[in-house]
Amino acid sequence: DFPIFDLIIIGAGAAGMMCALTAGQRGRKVLLLDHLDRAGAKILISGGGRCNFTNVEGDKAERYLSANPHFARSALGRYAPQDFIDLVEAHGIAWHEKTLGQLFCDGSAKQIVAMLEEECAKGGVETKLLTRITAISKPDENFRVETPGATHAASSLVIATGGPSIPKMGATGFAYDVARQFGLKVVEPRPALVPLTLGQDDRLFESLSGVSLDVVASLGKARFREAALFTHRGLSGPAILQISSYWRHGDTIALDLLPGTDARSILPEAKRVRPNAEPRTILREHFPDRLADVLADRLGLSGPLHEHRDATLAEAGARLNRWTLTPNGSEGFAKAEVTIGGVSTDGLDQRSLMARKVPGLHFIGEGVDVTGWLGGYNFQWAWASGRAAGEAA
Ligand code: FAD
Repeated sequence: DFPIFDLIIIGAGAAGMMCALTAGQRGRKVLLLDHLDRAGAKILISGGGRCNFTNVEGDKAERYLSANPHFARSALGRYAPQDFIDLVEAHGIAWHEKTLGQLFCDGSAKQIVAMLEEECAKGGVETKLLTRITAISKPDENFRVETPGATHAASSLVIATGGPSIPKMGATGFAYDVARQFGLKVVEPRPALVPLTLGQDDRLFESLSGVSLDVVASLGKARFREAALFTHRGLSGPAILQISSYWRHGDTIALDLLPGTDARSILPEAKRVRPNAEPRTILREHFPDRLADVLADRLGLSGPLHEHRDATLAEAGARLNRWTLTPNGSEGFAKAEVTIGGVSTDGLDQRSLMARKVPGLHFIGEGVDVTGWLGGYNFQWAWASGRAAGEAA
């Protein structure tokens, strides 16, 4: 004897709450479960506490990585960044646009969580926190969700437990286990939007820990012009986090350390005007001092400019426009802002996010093999996929 809901959602994060409020406001009887003691834990720490809740270009499918790059189009096309902005404004939450179309709260990420909770309450959503899920089954037309001391049943089940990034915060691979249990495939999950680490040979930058500069980071067709930050383990900063989503073991990344400048002419031209100057002195006009010194050493440029042939100086400049590095790893799930890969879109209907072979079972948010760029895209996917499942379930 147990209560039967129309819809049970496991995971009260960004996607789960959006799904709950949508279905609840459609008159569905919704139960929202989470094992943590609060809803929206990742929202609270997002965007440095101000939540980069969407991006003005958040409906562009090209900004998302997936084995099926077209999959996200349907949900993103039906719930646009403007729809979320309208909700934020209806709640009187002040926001601003930062660089690259990124939208943040003026105040605090807490406002976004409070807004979603209020909207869930409007839809009569029943929320149970601190609830561990011990088993899921589908013995008849209803799913059963077992928790210590209680069984809940519903005709629809939405898995919104996110990905395993930042396990310290309660993140798990639960969605993958449920997918496998019901015969769905999982695309290998990897840490993404994560700092990359460098081995001994590339550790030139170790002494530069804390130095940051504007670069173009590229790998294959992916190119990001943003800041890179040297850390004592390797590289971080938005340009590196972005490229990390494309990086696999063995790949070499290229950094243009002087974007927009053809660096080949810098040293030969300086040589004509100041032949006795040291290359590092010239480089210091373009880079932070510590970096200029390390680059001059790495380029083997000691002694005054007049001692070097123009061709050598031009060649050194070319390397500044294309400095290649082969990371030996990443800082892993412990430091990854998101997980790339996840429940394969092959088995899911793109309109409803429902498993084609398991009617009533939906997967949304980060647990699905759709991963956004840095800059509010991951929340936009959470909102849009949550909305799509909440409308369908
Ligand atoms: P989540 O928000 O992670 O929610 C999953 C929920 O499921 C959690 O409440 C969790 O407790 C619960 N759960 C997990 N396992 C279980 C289980 N076994 N049983 C019960 N409950 C479970 N994205 C942006 O777009 N903009 C940003 O500014 C931004 N900043 C970020 C900053 C940091 C430090 C991190 C780590 C991520 C950031 N992200 C940002 C990414 C974004 O937070 C996620 O992509 C987004 O939260 C995914 O939403 P989701 O609902 O799928 O998963």
